[in-house]
Amino acid sequence: MADRVELLGLNSAELEGFVTQTLGESRFRAKQLSQWLSRGAEFAEMTNLSAALRGKLAEVAVANPVRIRESFRSKLDGTEKFLYELRDGNLIEGVIMRYHYGDTLCVSTQVGCRMGCAFCASTLEGRVRNLSAGEILGQVVAANRHIRGEDEGRRVHNIVLMGSGEPFDNYDNVVRFLRLVNAPEGLNISLRNISLSTCGLTERIRQFAGEGLPVTLSLSLHAPNDEIRRKLMPVAQAHPYGEVMDAVRHYVEVTGRRAVFEYALVKGVNCELRHADELASRLRGFQSHVNLIPLNDVKERNLCAPSRREVQAFLQRLEQRGVSATVRREMGADIDGACGQLRRRYLAEKRP
Ligand code: SAH
Repeated sequence: MADRVELLGLNSAELEGFVTQTLGESRFRAKQLSQWLSRGAEFAEMTNLSAALRGKLAEVAVANPVRIRESFRSKLDGTEKFLYELRDGNLIEGVIMRYHYGDTLCVSTQVGCRMGCAFCASTLEGRVRNLSAGEILGQVVAANRHIRGEDEGRRVHNIVLMGSGEPFDNYDNVVRFLRLVNAPEGLNISLRNISLSTCGLTERIRQFAGEGLPVTLSLSLHAPNDEIRRKLMPVAQAHPYGEVMDAVRHYVEVTGRRAVFEYALVKGVNCELRHADELASRLRGFQSHVNLIPLNDVKERNLCAPSRREVQAFLQRLEQRGVSATVRREMGADIDGACGQLRRRYLAEKRP
């Protein structure tokens, strides 16, 4: 039996083709269907479609390939973590954070990851598979439905592609997702409200600059030089510092967006003042912002965060050197907020 069609992964022309050609229905039905899909409805709930059509859809198609299996809400700051289940039983996770500029959802792009960063929980067991565009969008649709259930006025306002997976290791599906989530007849989320984080696959950064999708590019830098970067991130072997910086500069020039550099502070590795000085000199003349992240301790890795004092000293030193920087506020500390941790704990607990 052929697999069912993931309707969330189709753009409006494709959905219309499916409705008129595969189902033999009028174009008007495609519009109705599309509105329901964006709201996260199941076929049975699509009450302005005939029972016969709903039955047919359930046979040949899938409304949302992503289901929230469990959710955990932080008592500290309202951050909520989702454990999602995919149709093949794979689990992924996501988190929604309440910021003053709106609810921000962190989405995953792969099940697991193969980039091998030394501090990251998502990569511990490698990459299982890529997510389809419909599965990436399905996370947003499912989270929207969930938060709307609590408060009709709430919705996902910003998206960060910073969950499990390397977005540029799943390039085509990620690009398709960005076009879908931005579509006026879909969720209509502005590209300005979307950030894509990459470990630095330089050819893809350059290719992405040409897509006409001006999202904020976040580069996971985590080091002031190649020697330290290679210790933390295997990808730095293939793509040295200068090459990555050139690619980001190219992205900034083409899109006019500012670049963000992620810098996880790891005790004893990259957070001395001379590292701040070196970083500042590498970023001189660059329209950018540095996001300092005290490392989320991953117990499988022998790495931890420096003290608060060291973090503040590092920040101050960057500022003195004219670098725009902030320390990322820690959210959801009581619910395994950091990416990859929840899925791992869950897999470990459920394992016989
Ligand atoms: N693969 C992409 C996006 C997913 S990771 C990337 O590498 O950017 C999202 C961000 O979380 C990255 O900056 C990543 O380096 C960071 N990160 C991963 N594990 C972390 C940890 N234990 N503590 C702090 N930041 C971490």
